[in-house]
Amino acid sequence: MRSKLYIDGQWIRPVHGKTFSVINPATEETIHAIAAATAEDVELAVAAARRAFDKDGWPRIDGQSRGCYLRAIAAGIRARHDELARLEVIDNGKPLPEALGDIEDSAGCFEYYADLAEKLDNNPVEEIAVSDNRFTSKVVREPVGVAGAIIPWNYPLLMASWKVAPALAAGCTVVLKPSELTSLTALELAAIAMEAGLPAGVLNIVTGTGAEAGQAIIDHPLIDKLAFTGSVPTGSKIMSAAARDIKRISLELGGKSPFVIFSDADIEQAVEWIMFGIFWNQGQVCSATSRVLIEAPIYDRVMARLCQAAKEIRIGNGLDDGVLLGPLVSRGQYDKVVAAIEAAVKAGARIAIGGKRPEGLDKGYYLEPTILTEVPLDSAAWREEIFGPVLCVRPFETEAEAIELANDSRFGLAAAVMSQDEARAERVAAAFRAGIVWINCSQPTFTEAPWGGYKTSGIGRELGRWGLENYLEVKQITRYASKKRWGWYLK
Ligand code: NAD
Repeated sequence: MRSKLYIDGQWIRPVHGKTFSVINPATEETIHAIAAATAEDVELAVAAARRAFDKDGWPRIDGQSRGCYLRAIAAGIRARHDELARLEVIDNGKPLPEALGDIEDSAGCFEYYADLAEKLDNNPVEEIAVSDNRFTSKVVREPVGVAGAIIPWNYPLLMASWKVAPALAAGCTVVLKPSELTSLTALELAAIAMEAGLPAGVLNIVTGTGAEAGQAIIDHPLIDKLAFTGSVPTGSKIMSAAARDIKRISLELGGKSPFVIFSDADIEQAVEWIMFGIFWNQGQVCSATSRVLIEAPIYDRVMARLCQAAKEIRIGNGLDDGVLLGPLVSRGQYDKVVAAIEAAVKAGARIAIGGKRPEGLDKGYYLEPTILTEVPLDSAAWREEIFGPVLCVRPFETEAEAIELANDSRFGLAAAVMSQDEARAERVAAAFRAGIVWINCSQPTFTEAPWGGYKTSGIGRELGRWGLENYLEVKQITRYASKKRWGWYLK
């Protein structure tokens, strides 16, 4: 496990020598200490990224060459697949099969953007027909500059990949800050980039707290773009900080996503996708379908099967065989989720199952899969993100009511619908005010498809070609092509 900052192609100690602890959420043991960067360290990282962008030529090498580096990073991730997945488990708590999937997806993300980097070589010049034929105009795409990327703890390496891969593909240089709760694999990404021969300064990784390292990044005047994934309150701070220097921003924030199940749905399939939508990664998923609306005629049957299946999920250390629900990421997150359940009950909700620490697991931030019913529509449990394995369920009578309930939220990240009636599923999908909509499933995520939210769930889109556009500026180059004098001042 690494502990230093990765700045300008080197491992360095933080200027003030501060560190923070890494705690394994399955055991509550401190397993490591990592450098806590301060503003002085961020200054060095930004200077390195600036030089790599302005002087060393990273944005000017061809896309083919940038693609080669990205492919080498993908290969480096694949070569250390198991080791990286195990680091993710001891850092974040997620079950090993999920972590293995995350690592595979991270490598896939670098490969996908390697392809797009190569395509940038051929495509970018777009001729524009302008209204005056004495002029010709063309449009080119250029990298935005130095990107400051700040990420959360729920998918540590994957969230880093979603930002670093498109940024490097576009020709930007990067200062990345992982979450102080899960920094281990981001540091390994730095080591992999170093082995891949990525030029110094192109990728810099500063570990540290949001208040110190994160704030120094968002305040830095020489950063051109902030790419953030995390909570709404932090997103809001980032937007304010960006306003000062008119930095470009992309924000991937929280959600309270609905899942509407019609009575023609297959009950077994519905139950499985509901579970996948809220218990995967302990419910610590921005797009978790945490509000389930079930058409009244099948409500009791779905609830009975759901509660039975949820009770059978094996809970434990993510490294143990068969475990599908690990601990929450930290003591703080555990306390927050438990408090949210208590507040829901106070507001009038009923606990159908769960709500407490599983028997026999006295150490670790474990919580039973929890299902709440009769959750008041104006309660925090129904309206705010809980970010834990906590599902709110309620019945509905009509399609119009389901759509109204689904859209009655300040969030708009994701939404899902299940019905065998294709026309109805399409109609409801069209009515959802959300950036990601699933029909007859919940959560499948593809590198090729745009990811991001409506309303307070964010601004901009990651992944796919949209993810690359996040890191590109548009430049028009207009030429006066006539031999005649312009003749405004000089006749
Ligand atoms: P958070 O906002 O607390 O922290 C996210 C990151 O911001 C961390 O690296 C943190 O250190 C940093 N940070 C905190 N304060 C800062 C400041 N003042 N200046 C700069 N950086 C600062 O979020 P979290 O608890 O790590 O993650 C959970 C949240 O992330 C949830 O709301 C979840 O929905 C959201 N999320 C969204 C997506 C998406 O794609 N939309 C994906 C994953 C997580």
